[in-house]
Amino acid sequence: MKFTVAIDGPAAAGKGTVARAIAAEFGFAHLDTGLLYRAVGRRVLEGDSPAIAASTLRHGDVVREDLRTPEVSRAASKVAALPEVRKALVKFQREFARRDGGAVLDGRDIGTVICPDAEAKLFVTASDAARAHRRWLELTAAGHDVTEAGVLDDIRERDARDADRRDAPMKAASDAVILDTSDMDVDEVSAFALEEVRTRLEGWQQV
Ligand code: C5P
Repeated sequence: MKFTVAIDGPAAAGKGTVARAIAAEFGFAHLDTGLLYRAVGRRVLEGDSPAIAASTLRHGDVVREDLRTPEVSRAASKVAALPEVRKALVKFQREFARRDGGAVLDGRDIGTVICPDAEAKLFVTASDAARAHRRWLELTAAGHDVTEAGVLDDIRERDARDADRRDAPMKAASDAVILDTSDMDVDEVSAFALEEVRTRLEGWQQV
């Protein structure tokens, strides 16, 4: 079975929560594509060139524990604007998407560039304030010394860079279902997403 779920949206909107819920419910493999750009950003902070880092990325690079820091988030969105970096990561993502047994990928350009033919597409978004609050809670729980206002500035800066770049800008695919999670809790978000994928899966199985 080759069934792909594409999940896109801005920083801290709940894409990861949605993707993990879908993967667990339907037994699909999950790829958090942001980790690829974070891993490249991390290596660039350590002195590698972006193109070399992207073309020699290894499993060990993407399972490092220090990929979620604000510094790496910023570096990730800077390297993500470079066409040579994006190009080097396309093949791996497309192969992952078409693996047997189903796959769910979350990122910024999954439904538009990586898998325009994905069987299900969701664009997960939320207000800036809701996203900043959630990310601030996560970062402080992980021991980072950040203010909510600082986190808000960071995600706005990152969203602007991600949405305004020329190559694969963040945007909802024309056939994506928009899910605004501002006033929803985790269970409501997951329930909505699971229902959407279940409907697509049933329609797809009948073809
Ligand atoms: O999703 P996450 O916040 O971990 O992504 C980090 C950065 O990686 C984003 O701000 C964006 O610049 C980049 N990214 C991207 N395309 C993707 C996934 C992430 O450009 N598919």
